[in-house]
Amino acid sequence: MIDKEILDIVACPNCKKDLVLNMDKLLCKHCKKEYNIDGDIPILLD
Ligand SMILES: [Zn+2]
Repeated sequence: MIDKEILDIVACPNCKKDLVLNMDKLLCKHCKKEYNIDGDIPILLD
């Protein structure tokens, strides 16, 4: 499970906005991109 502290650190690589946890993925509400989480490491690739 991903740490809340990581959510404070990560930003969308596409638009640099905050990401939110959506099920087991990170979601950018701004551009609607989803990013996978590998273990507790967010995979922030375009
Ligand atoms: Zn974004």
